[in-house]
Amino acid sequence: MADNGLMAVRFYRQSGKGYARAWMCDVSKKVNSPEAYVLFNAYGLMLEEICGVVAAVLKLGSVPVSLRNNGGTHGTLFINRSGYGLLIAEPEVCKAQQSRTIELGLRRKYAQCQQCHGRRSRSTLQLQPDGRRICEWCAGRG
Ligand SMILES: [Zn+2]
Repeated sequence: MADNGLMAVRFYRQSGKGYARAWMCDVSKKVNSPEAYVLFNAYGLMLEEICGVVAAVLKLGSVPVSLRNNGGTHGTLFINRSGYGLLIAEPEVCKAQQSRTIELGLRRKYAQCQQCHGRRSRSTLQLQPDGRRICEWCAGRG
């Protein structure tokens, strides 16, 4: 996910154990505002609760928006709740963008296993002594 310029907002217990997170994406260029983010795919807490914390820290407002990635809510990036997201920005930007659809245009960078030719996340491929990069599954069979 980090390949896409996505950030994760994480919440930790005092013990240091993570208990909630959401994805956060900078959309300042898309909504033509110096500071604007969308939050989506919350886990552990409601998206609205996470948004409340982030918006308060940044001293910005928030509104619901509809998110798409490359035209959909499935595929490279699965956006939960049928593309439901919250925009965090200055109040006037929020007002202008309320209920609008924001296209994220994110692409996951894939690499191909040079043995089975399957698409794998680049970071999981393992460099072999012969210079090939192969997936964990193929490496396990070697
Ligand atoms: Zn493979």
